[in-house]
Order: sequence, then C-alpha cells, then structure tokens
Amino acid sequence: MTTALNSPDLGDVFAYIDAHRQEYLDRLFVYLRQPSISAHGLGIAETAEHIAGVMAPLGLAPRIVPTAGWPMVLGTRDDRPGTPTVLLYGHYDVQPPDPLDAWVSPPFEPTIRDGRIYARGVGDNKGQHFAQILGIEATLACRGALPCNVKVLLEGEEEIGSPRMPAFVRDHRADLGADLVVTSDGPVDENGLPVLRFGVRGVINFELRARGANRDLHSGNWGGVAPNPLWTLVHLLGTMKNEHGDVTIDGFYDAVGPQTPLEQAALAALPVDLDATMRSLDVTQLDAPADRGFYERLSAWPTFTINGLHGGYGGPGSKTVLPHEAFAKCDMRLVEAQTAEDIFARVEAHVRRHAPGVEVIWQGAMDPSRTPIESPYTAPLRAAITAAQGAPQLVPAMGGSLPDYVFTKTLGLPAFQIPYANADEANHAPNENLEVERFFNGIKTGAALLAHLGAMRRAGG
Ligand SMILES: [Zn+2]
Repeated sequence: MTTALNSPDLGDVFAYIDAHRQEYLDRLFVYLRQPSISAHGLGIAETAEHIAGVMAPLGLAPRIVPTAGWPMVLGTRDDRPGTPTVLLYGHYDVQPPDPLDAWVSPPFEPTIRDGRIYARGVGDNKGQHFAQILGIEATLACRGALPCNVKVLLEGEEEIGSPRMPAFVRDHRADLGADLVVTSDGPVDENGLPVLRFGVRGVINFELRARGANRDLHSGNWGGVAPNPLWTLVHLLGTMKNEHGDVTIDGFYDAVGPQTPLEQAALAALPVDLDATMRSLDVTQLDAPADRGFYERLSAWPTFTINGLHGGYGGPGSKTVLPHEAFAKCDMRLVEAQTAEDIFARVEAHVRRHAPGVEVIWQGAMDPSRTPIESPYTAPLRAAITAAQGAPQLVPAMGGSLPDYVFTKTLGLPAFQIPYANADEANHAPNENLEVERFFNGIKTGAALLAHLGAMRRAGG
C-alpha cells in the first residue's frame, strides 16, 4: 500500500481554492439562507433543488429521488474506470432554529464573527458537504476531470432520525455501488485536531414498565401487603449490571470481539487529560470497571445506562405513597459485532426470567458500524487529510451513534468519517457555527481525498 502513496501534487488545486475563498463563502451563504427544516418540511423541496443545481454543472447528473418522506439527492460522475468510487454522504436538512431569541444573528442570515460563520446548518451539515462538493469543483477547474469516481448522496431526513435510509439503501444498491463511503458530519474532538473515524457505536432505547395495584395506595394501610413496582424495577435492574460494571444479561458480551493491534494502538494514542476531565465533571473516579482506558471505554465496550427511573412521589417534603406503577428508561450503546435485534431479545429473555410481569418496550435502535483500520483505504484518506489540514487522529469508533451500518452492513462497504466542524459548533443549538478556516480545510480535504484515492489504483494498489 505504501508504494501507492506517491503523494499526488495538490499545489495548483489548493492555490485555486485559496484564490476563490470569497466566492466559495458567498455561495455557501446562499445555501445557508435557504431553510430546510425536516421536522416541519419548511424549505425542503427548494433546498433539494438548490443543491442539485450546484451539482449539475459539475457533471454529477443529480437526481432528486422521492421517498415516502423527504427526497434524497443523488449524483454520480465516473471519470476513471479502474479507480475507486467514493460515495460521499451528507444531509441537506437542518434542525429547527428555536429558541430564536437566543441567536445573536438570525439563523438563516449567515454572518461572520470572530472567524466563525454563524448560521443554522453551517456545521450540521451544509458547510461540510458543500465543502466536499467544492473540492470536486476545484479539482475539475484545475484538472478538467476527477482522479477517481464519485457518488454523492444527500439525505433530507437525517435530523429526524433517517427513517427512510435503511429501505432507501436496500432498494438502491446499484445506484449506490461504490468502494468506500466518506461522511463529513459532526465535530472534531475537543483538542481540535483533524480526525479520521472508522465507526460508531450502535444504540438501543427501551423502557421497562412495572405495575402493582390498580391505584396508588397508602403505605401504612397497604405496605407489606401490596407489591411495590419501584422495588420490582430496582431488583430487576440489580440483576442486569453488577457493581463491578459488568452487564450480567446472558450473552450480552458474546459478539464483542477483541480490538485489533492497530485499534488498540490508535486508542492508546488519543490524547486525554484524565485529571482535567474528572475535574470538569466534579467526579473523583470514573465508572467501573476501573482498569479501562478513557477512549477504550467509549469505543470498544458496550454500555447499559439507566436514563431515568420514575414512579411514586418526587415532590417537596414526604408523601407516604405506595406507587402503582414504575418506569425505567434505558439505553445501551453497542459495539461491533453486536446487533440491536439480538441484544434486545436477550434483554427480553432476562426480564421474562427475573421479573416476568415487567413489560419491555422497544423505543428504537441503530446497529453499530466498524471499518477495520487495516482497510486499504486508510492510508490514502490519512494522507489526504494530512495534506489538507495536518495528520489526523485515528478513532476506531466514536461513542455516539449514526446510521453508518446502512453502508457497512447493508452495502458491505468500508465507511469512514472525516468531520470538519469545530468541537463547539453548537449543532442543534442556537448560534450554530463553523470556523471559516475549517470550511476551507474541508474543501481542500475533499479535493485531496479524490486525488489520493485516484493515485492509489493507478500506482498498482
Ligand atoms: Zn444534526
């Protein structure tokens, strides 16, 4: 693989990008002024038309593909048979901007202050995929053709949970045929360094619901007689995770594989100041088990979190009530190769055995996704990021969840994330922003990854 990295010269493309900064900002601002709030449907059709109109002159032959919800925008350009085809995924929808009065400048009037562009959707995700598209444009302007083949998939429902993505990807395998997927979304880490990520944890949300009598009761008249559903849940939860931090549901860890040597090395190399982190949280120790590295916890292990435990009385003073129902809201973060379906079945079996009267209610899930660092595409992507913005940290999987499994599991493709946004981008919050330089670094990275992927196969890789 190293022989394939004959570092393509990007000097002319980077100079072109530097010479077009104002024009690129102006065009990004036009895109940002267009609201595209998937939760309400506001501006969705116009925004899909707009971005398709940006893609058309680049020879990407964009199509606006209807779904049962908001449409997908799909483009493709095959310049170099025999070189890799990269599928660039992003989303053109944005979160609602509320609360409006918390914005310093209006959410759909992009404004630059202190080196940052402020606008709803600038980081999440318009600025990031627009940068990738401009990387294509700059390459075409300088070279007349792309060094590899490109597909672009822009979704209009990411901010409402991508409900149509699994079926869309299943039904459009041919349209989405590629060698790898690259997503630029979300922020880099707190340290601000460039990042190349290889996966995400999955997640299951569920609720445990216990019932006692048909009404709340007096704890003196009925305590010791009527069962207490809060105690039922406390005992049940106690059988699901022990004080050493182990989830004690049969088979919970069965599918969890060891980290490869490269993954272990990557996790160990991620910088963290544990003392500062604990100080910032006002805690004196991390969760059990104690012998796990900080990033190993977030990347390599599944979790079981009680999000909330509700029932009875929680107001001021006391109330001697014996509650008639109790709920526990829970989530589990899953790692490769656990599946939400299998883990949920194990939770149900556990609850049937230990507290048969308790209901387990499925509230949604996403499978985990992991691409091995050993992938042949790691080297060119790493080199591209290095050329555009400096050497990236390699993160085997981020702690949170994204529907990347549709690419890795449904399409069977390696999938990578190259986020461009600053860690404090305030996505989903008022005053969302993207540092101006990160936008331009994103354009350069977008151009560089095409060049490095193209160089890969031509050099015999
Ligand atoms: Zn978002």
